[in-house]
Amino acid sequence: MAGSSSAYDVIIIGAGAAGLMCAATAGYRGRRVLVLDHANKPGKKILMSGGGRCNFTNLNSTPANFLSDNQHYCISALKRYTPQDFLDLVDRHGVEYEEKAPGQLFCRDSAKDILNVLLTECEWAGAEVRLKTEVRRVREISHGYQVVTGSGVLSCESLVVATGGLSIPTMGASGFGYELAKQFGLKVLPTRAGLVPFTLQPELKQQLAPLSGVSCPVDAHCANQHFREPMLVTHRGLSGPAMLQVSSFWQPGDAVHINLLPARDIRDDLLQLRKDKPQSTLAHYLNQHLPKRFAQAFNELQGWNGPLQACRNQDIEQIANTLGNWTIKPGGTEGYRTAEVTLGGIDTRQLSSKTMAVLERPNLFFIGEVVDVTGHLGGHNFQWAWASGVAAGNEV
Ligand SMILES: Cc1cc2nc3c(=O)[nH]c(=O)nc-3n(C[C@H](O)[C@H](O)[C@H](O)COP(=O)(O)OP(=O)(O)OC[C@H]3O[C@@H](n4cnc5c(N)ncnc54)[C@H](O)[C@@H]3O)c2cc1C
Repeated sequence: MAGSSSAYDVIIIGAGAAGLMCAATAGYRGRRVLVLDHANKPGKKILMSGGGRCNFTNLNSTPANFLSDNQHYCISALKRYTPQDFLDLVDRHGVEYEEKAPGQLFCRDSAKDILNVLLTECEWAGAEVRLKTEVRRVREISHGYQVVTGSGVLSCESLVVATGGLSIPTMGASGFGYELAKQFGLKVLPTRAGLVPFTLQPELKQQLAPLSGVSCPVDAHCANQHFREPMLVTHRGLSGPAMLQVSSFWQPGDAVHINLLPARDIRDDLLQLRKDKPQSTLAHYLNQHLPKRFAQAFNELQGWNGPLQACRNQDIEQIANTLGNWTIKPGGTEGYRTAEVTLGGIDTRQLSSKTMAVLERPNLFFIGEVVDVTGHLGGHNFQWAWASGVAAGNEV
């Protein structure tokens, strides 16, 4: 769009992972791009991600790692911009990284490296990033959109909404993207906190309180979704990767099932131990296979004492079941305050899976976390931000 300095080809609302990726992609195509953000810094969530080292992708990412009401929507964009594509970009910028868990790539030094890659790309592509700019209103005009900000009125041919989800409001999260979608007649699916720690009922919370800080590998499941990862007891409840993963599938009132010894055949172990060392105790068995503090507290919680020889077969069955299928009913989750992601959002049935554009409005785009695509823990959410950002950036 030629003309006044306030007219752009593309305006992107949100200088986060998806918005910056989209800006660089569109800028390299020769589009005149402006990214707006109300925050005082770009990419705040990138900086705080992965414990400050940003788990920026997952080499094993597939569409099966994403939750959505429209499961197939994410396939096209993820196929066209792969984890290897992002890794190639990271390599071109000489960022050092490491694989902390299978497929999970983290910066070796700091998440700042990833933000710098994106900002450098934006600079090279000629895309402008304007911070501390509040977007007050958006209005459709002939051939595009008018964007009313706290510091003036702008216009563009293509508008991209990359405002992210609701998690961590202190980092700039807002419901603006959802409101904008509704303004243009789009359906927004109910949102809720995902990848979030569980809170516990007061009694269990008190019983587990002494274990705060203890972590152990478990197999946790809820709604038929199993995750074999570490669980962490905190002073508020249960966290750690296993619990965060399960939380995305959990609905209030659901039970969470935890196998505390996923690497063992507990029943066989106990039967064998009773035969070989009848004087041995459960405390001894637990001490061998669980962190000591956890073993001790769990044993006390269950009131298990006495030698194994005093256990009948049915007692052993029951104990094996308690250890292999410890069932808890969380009181709730910590909510958006600490959640890593927001589940739900813009219903993707109204968007093109190839370009992220609204089907009925080919110059309005929604990318990143604001849409109803949510990844598992482990770098998948950033991969979606990159892939959806590139998909829109190639079209705007
Ligand atoms: C603590 C934490 C750790 C995480 N760690 C990881 C990880 O290691 N790996 C991973 O894959 N994912 C991780 N995530 C998830 C990941 O950060 C998000 O999925 C990703 O940032 C989403 O990108 P986005 O661009 O859609 O949104 P965001 O990165 O949230 O960017 C949205 C931007 O929009 C701006 N904005 C919002 N409203 C407005 C408005 N009204 N006007 C102007 N600007 C606005 C915000 O200020 C923000 O800059 C983590 C999240 C959290 C909270």
